Amino acid sequence: MIALAETRQQRIQALGFDPSTQPKEDYLPCNCCGADRWVILTHQDRYGYPVQATACNDCGLTMLNPRMTAEAYGSFYASTYRPLVSAYHGRLIDAKTIQGEQVPYAQAFIEFARPFITEAHQTLLDVGGSTGVVAREFMKCFDLKTTLIDPAPAETAEAESLGIESITGFVEDWDAKGRKFDIIGLFQTIDHLLDVSTTLTKLRQVISDHGIFLVDIVDFRAAMLRNGSVEDAVKIDHVYSLTQETAEAMFARAGFRWVRKGYSADHLHVSYACVPTEATFIMPDPTWVTEYFREIRQVQNIK
Ligand SMILES: [Zn+2]
Repeated sequence: MIALAETRQQRIQALGFDPSTQPKEDYLPCNCCGADRWVILTHQDRYGYPVQATACNDCGLTMLNPRMTAEAYGSFYASTYRPLVSAYHGRLIDAKTIQGEQVPYAQAFIEFARPFITEAHQTLLDVGGSTGVVAREFMKCFDLKTTLIDPAPAETAEAESLGIESITGFVEDWDAKGRKFDIIGLFQTIDHLLDVSTTLTKLRQVISDHGIFLVDIVDFRAAMLRNGSVEDAVKIDHVYSLTQETAEAMFARAGFRWVRKGYSADHLHVSYACVPTEATFIMPDPTWVTEYFREIRQVQNIK
């Protein structure tokens, strides 16, 4: 239970989670361009945790670096993540309470994707699909056989009870055994992945030739400018802080071409519908990268 009389920092401290004692991976090469020159942007996140957000000097990809290992993130999601978000907002947020928010979210995404979905689209793969609320809304609208992957066993059990084939685990480790999917959704998930590049490549391998890939990012630039703070836009659970430029470069490298892009009603998320194509090695425009660093310095010096 959350005592609402306490301050945000007291509520977070009461969770007893200490990122500084967690096992970490140090200074990995850039997940977008492979370069290894990082600029440290911040020394703590919005929760007050001592985590570093860094940006690749060459392409601007922003990610936590060093960051917790996959195993440490596994236990973080099992026990700390939902209570942490609840403590931050001062109200209970768990797998059940978010279901109410996920229905309108799913309906908005369905309308966004509807022009690209035809009778030839018969299967849906929802990666990071949680309890299956978003997948269920797609199944109500379109006649789809659905498969869901999520690392949290309690959430996949709930999805299974909705009649959705559910797999507990990480998509990077999953053996699709040659199966292909007509619609692939990576909804509110890409920022949490430990390896965006490998995941996108994997999804490219399992999408059918006429498939459609639906994905959204939290636009880090938008979050930073809205908050007037870089730290407030950084979160321990967002390993990646993507922007339109870095996300689109990573889509192209994995072999996805976006055919529709939309700014969501909250002005923070950017949604994409993508089709499979040949992988193309592109970099974000160097002029943009320079401007991005300049903008970060401007925001840092507002306060
Ligand atoms: Zn890079």
